Amino acid sequence: MPPVKKEFLAKLIDGKAIAAEINRENAAETAVIAKEYGAAPGLAVVLVGNDPASQVYVSSKVKKCAELGFYSEKIVLPENATQEEVLSVVDSLNRNPAIHGILVQSPPPPQIDEQAIINAIDPAKDVDCFHPLNVGKLLLGDLSGMLPCTPWGVIQLLDRSGISPAGKHAVVLGRSNIVGKPMAALLMAKGKNADATVTVCHSRTKNLAEITRSADIIIAAIGKPEFLRGDMVKEGAVVIDVGINRIADPSAPKGMRLVGDVAFDEVAPKASRITPVPGGVGPMTIAMLMNNTIRAFKAAMKKK
Ligand code: NDP
Repeated sequence: MPPVKKEFLAKLIDGKAIAAEINRENAAETAVIAKEYGAAPGLAVVLVGNDPASQVYVSSKVKKCAELGFYSEKIVLPENATQEEVLSVVDSLNRNPAIHGILVQSPPPPQIDEQAIINAIDPAKDVDCFHPLNVGKLLLGDLSGMLPCTPWGVIQLLDRSGISPAGKHAVVLGRSNIVGKPMAALLMAKGKNADATVTVCHSRTKNLAEITRSADIIIAAIGKPEFLRGDMVKEGAVVIDVGINRIADPSAPKGMRLVGDVAFDEVAPKASRITPVPGGVGPMTIAMLMNNTIRAFKAAMKKK
């Protein structure tokens, strides 16, 4: 977590602590599964190429599997792998009964058609919740299957901080398939942790600041460093910062530091609750990925 002024500490939503709590629950469930079934949830992570950031993400997912008692496989394909090679790996993982979750790390090299790969993953093993069937179920309000990791992590942050979106005006900044759209779908779903009135903003939105000023809850996911300023937020709003941006900082040890999409020092004085970057939404994504893998395992056992 970045250094935070003492007066803002009480407002912080500590994603690192909440993710650790969810991972303790994940580990406990995995232990029960081991006893009941003599088996473990299995996650396969496929990496195509040698993008350094992707390598870090893949390693941290595999490490988390080991910590929780999962079975995991890491499959690395070369930078020049063909579409057919990736599809063949996905096909064999689809048929592998020890694997309950498959994820192909994004972004793949340019010769790979990412959507075609996603479409080839068995929807029951689609732990990223990117397959059209799972996206469709989400929009239909069926939350019984796979759930989108980062947006579901945001919902968990709200729930475990005692914040209900019901009847609130929630403004989602960003309409990507990974964050913005599924975030909006979860917030507008019916029932617990949902029932919000949702506005989605994007790069063509007019009068964006007017819209954010009317928000009770703002979810910022646009990938622009410190985009949301203090004068764009009303007093008492809850602000969730999904953004992860690397900016140059000669005073930092690596010459760079991470900032979110929210100008924390300006927004924190007005917000009632706020997430930091890092240490907010970031750690939740892997925790929810692991949780989806457990859900996929349980669904597979029910089918047997
Ligand atoms: P994308 O680049 O896919 O989408 C960005 C969205 O923001 C688009 O809908 C775009 O609009 C909108 N946007 C861009 N500029 C503006 C602007 N000036 N005003 C209003 N809207 C704008 O990003 P992602 O959704 O994948 O990621 C968003 C951020 O979240 C990134 O910083 C990313 O690193 C982070 N992230 C964090 C995760 C985590 O685990 N914490 C997981 C995933 C992402 P349009 O559609 O019109 O182009």
